Amino acid sequence: MDYLTVKDVSVAERHVLVRVDFNVPLSDDDSVADDSRIKAGLPTIEFLREQGAKLILVSHLGRPGGREVPDLSLRPVVDRLSELLGEDVSLLREITGREVRTRLADMEAGEVVFLENIRFHPGETENDPRLARQLAGLADIYVNDAFGTAHRAHASTHGVAEYLPGVIGLLMEEELRVLTGLREGLRSPYCAILGGAKISDKLTVCRRLLNKVDALMLGGGLANTFSLCLGYSVGNSLVEPEMIPEVRSIVAEANRKDVDLLMPLDVVVARNIAPSAESRVVDINDVDPNWSIVDIGPRTVARYREKLGEARTVFWNGPMGIFEIRDFADGTHQIARILAGLEDAETVIGGGESVEAVTNIGVSDEIDHISTAGGAALAFLAGEELPALGVLQRVERLRIPWVGGNWKMHTKMEDARELAGEISARWDRAEPEVVLFPPHTFVQQAAQEASGSPVAIGGQDCHWEDSGAYTGSVSAIMLRSAGARYTLVGHSECREYLGDYDERVRDKLQAAVDAGLSAVLCVGEQLTDRDRNLHRERVREQLQIAIGDRPDYPARKLIVAYEPVWAIGTGRPAGLQDVREMTSVIREELESLLGTATAERIRVVYGGSVKADNVGDFVDLPDVDGVLVGGASLRVKSFVGICEGIREHIVGSGDDG
Ligand code: ADP
Ligand code: MG
Repeated sequence: MDYLTVKDVSVAERHVLVRVDFNVPLSDDDSVADDSRIKAGLPTIEFLREQGAKLILVSHLGRPGGREVPDLSLRPVVDRLSELLGEDVSLLREITGREVRTRLADMEAGEVVFLENIRFHPGETENDPRLARQLAGLADIYVNDAFGTAHRAHASTHGVAEYLPGVIGLLMEEELRVLTGLREGLRSPYCAILGGAKISDKLTVCRRLLNKVDALMLGGGLANTFSLCLGYSVGNSLVEPEMIPEVRSIVAEANRKDVDLLMPLDVVVARNIAPSAESRVVDINDVDPNWSIVDIGPRTVARYREKLGEARTVFWNGPMGIFEIRDFADGTHQIARILAGLEDAETVIGGGESVEAVTNIGVSDEIDHISTAGGAALAFLAGEELPALGVLQRVERLRIPWVGGNWKMHTKMEDARELAGEISARWDRAEPEVVLFPPHTFVQQAAQEASGSPVAIGGQDCHWEDSGAYTGSVSAIMLRSAGARYTLVGHSECREYLGDYDERVRDKLQAAVDAGLSAVLCVGEQLTDRDRNLHRERVREQLQIAIGDRPDYPARKLIVAYEPVWAIGTGRPAGLQDVREMTSVIREELESLLGTATAERIRVVYGGSVKADNVGDFVDLPDVDGVLVGGASLRVKSFVGICEGIREHIVGSGDDG
């Protein structure tokens, strides 16, 4: 997966802004008519609550057009959500002001609040940076779980992620997994069926879809504009005549690309659009001037059935007719049944109404994947970049900055406790990620002190075996059970004093990762390497041996620390240029060992001495994502100063700090 997910970030005690798509249909009595979208969002909400996050949910409902429309309040949605969670969710009417701030500050871990319909603000659909900043100011982390609106660049789907680290939720992850599989592992023939009412929206992606599909079948309001373009009269039907030039060029392109473009041969026309209106089936060239096309006809269904029988992949978005009216629902229902009956094809249906139609006739279990999204799924499958994902990707490439404090063989129990307690109390931000490495004996106390804060604890070293007759050693599994989430491996001092040669470091790294710890692999060259101009080679070799045969290392759980061993106590300090050169060598080697996609997610940090006032220079280097410090981590002020220095440089300011 190209995006960070809620599982990759620590959210405990953090305010997390979650964009959900709870744009649900309401019944006349203002209750939720269909809660499937709310239910689809539950896994992410439950997951975040279990992790101890403080959740602020955001959604739109309908199209209030940038003003407060009481009928489009999220009240019913919030009530339904409260029922489903078995927990009171409060609805916040404002997003700025003291009251909101106090309310949010008072939240407890696992608590959920919901912001009122975000489209009440005109800035939402305009993607106004001011609104985006206000939203970002409410939280520490942004989660986008609204795949259905991922093709829109709005303040709550796009702008906000410019100001906060953004990750995807579990529903979004699942949608992307299935649709990426469909997009990349297509079996042909691939048929797409397009219908529905949002004509201009869908036409723009139609063209790109032509590069992918073997056949394109049209129905619903969308087909009318095509019929009109081809010279048929469409009477009173829903059409968008201004799209005719676009349609004409799509038809030409389909011909050029040898895509089979199937259009309705016959249609159901009605004198007016109402339940029991007079209607009949006519040929497409026989539509009466004052009548409207409301469904596809039986000959069309038969033709589509035949074509679909050959398909190995089918994507459908948009009903074939005005299926909300029983008399005009036949074409849509028939197509749904045909898809349900296809044995050899992978079938995907997306879109609010399309899914509703399939659910209505009870065949959804026979469909391989039902997506919550219509337009977004269509755009994604056509190969378009979804704006909401674009911003997340950028955050992802940034890699969450990281600071480690290695206490080495310092502190006694009381100091260790105090130090861990004070740093955890002072550091309440998710970025940079902060990890303390106390001596093994104090790991458990430190972990207790840090619990409930984003600060994590690690061991300074681990054994390569899980257990056994290894007097004096501590295994990765033991560290984990004592509350550690990290361990250092191959620290220059362990290499020097414990004789940890490269293969040993590799074995320890494997043990750490296999035990579920994140590992900080330390590499670096000696003065003799440097003097013989072998420093680049030496570091490449260390990486090759340590990770070369394990290309499956989870990128998020591996950090590489560059230690300029030659600079320690030699009077030859490592300059910015040296660090720049060596970290770029490391990144290059990671790429060649693990591939770009994995390598660009692995954090590379500088393991040398820095202070609060120069740490910014180091993390400004293109390949440096943080630091691993020694002595400076033994004093709360200097260590927190370093964390803050990184925050200012990488994360950027502009929030409540
Ligand atoms: P989805 O939600 O599945 O993406 P759309 O929102 O684009 O689909 O369109 C769904 C709507 O299209 C339905 O409410 C349906 O009544 C309408 N529709 C389908 N065919 C026609 C038609 N021939 N004329 C007018 N509206 C139509
Ligand atoms: Mg719709």
